[in-house]
Amino acid sequence: MSKPKIGFIGLGIMGLPMAKNLIKAGYPLIAYDLNEKPLEEITQAGAQKGTSNAHVTANCDIIITMLPNSPDVQKAVFAEGGIAEGLSSGQILIDMSSIAPLVSQDIAKKLEEKGVEMLDAPVSGGQEKARSGTLAIMVGGKEDTFDTCKPILDILGNPVLVGDIGAGGTTKLVNQSIVAVNIAVVAEALLLGKKAGVDPKRIFDAIKGGLAGSQCFTDKAPRMFSANYDPGFRMKLHVKDLTNVLSTSQALHNAMPLTAQVMEMMQTLMAEGHTEVDHGGLALFYEKMNGVSLKEE
Ligand code: NAD
Repeated sequence: MSKPKIGFIGLGIMGLPMAKNLIKAGYPLIAYDLNEKPLEEITQAGAQKGTSNAHVTANCDIIITMLPNSPDVQKAVFAEGGIAEGLSSGQILIDMSSIAPLVSQDIAKKLEEKGVEMLDAPVSGGQEKARSGTLAIMVGGKEDTFDTCKPILDILGNPVLVGDIGAGGTTKLVNQSIVAVNIAVVAEALLLGKKAGVDPKRIFDAIKGGLAGSQCFTDKAPRMFSANYDPGFRMKLHVKDLTNVLSTSQALHNAMPLTAQVMEMMQTLMAEGHTEVDHGGLALFYEKMNGVSLKEE
């Protein structure tokens, strides 16, 4: 059986390497982005160049979107020249952006009226894992739709079906809360070591293999030691995710005091202009407050 043709929309930090991996795996692919530069790059890598989101949709079997936030996905689907204009019954939309679960459910309902199924399938792992095709993928939707799309998702990482539409996004909110609090405490605790006169890099080497070790610790502490906050995952995108975490939590009368506190730290950094830095830049908040830097001398 020949491989389905994929329409890929959103070629940013994550989308571009993901689309390249699908081309490498032999999938025919048509792509579109508002930004011309990554569109040229994916065309060089073997994709057909789309001229609009509707054009992409009208010329493929399965559409993947990898866009910043809920309003971007709503616009990409429903605005003039959008995905909805090019859709036909039997197609599947896999939205891999991290957006509010209620928005995914709303879009899925509208698409179902057109005979189109949808999966919400946000990811975790960042640019490196997007490149290596090892993303954690949290999927919400119908089981048979998941089964149809699994061979494609397997190229991008490790997909797990967690429930109905919206469940992928809910799982991502849980993930983003854990990551935010983890990064914050990495900076908070390492600075204690520094103030007490012990080299934070040696502390890192000593404890990374123990119970305090984590993916966040391993990935973000070295960035703090070199003060390298090139994204990576932009601070403003993590604030976007925590906005979705806290609004969902509040709607459910659920308390998340640690996440709320870290959100305030991130907002402080945003107000100071640190919108595009990697979220590992949370260390900047603690460094300013304590008057010491984690950067190796
Ligand atoms: P990004 O800002 O680098 O890329 C988004 C791309 O979407 C841009 O190229 C933009 O031009 C394009 N775009 C926006 N609106 C569009 C539209 N209407 N039509 C066509 N293209 C449009 O973002 P990213 O870092 O690649 O993140 C994408 C999603 O993945 C976000 O939801 C983010 O939260 C999530 N995510 C990111 C990371 C990371 O480390 N960067 C990790 C996990 C999850």
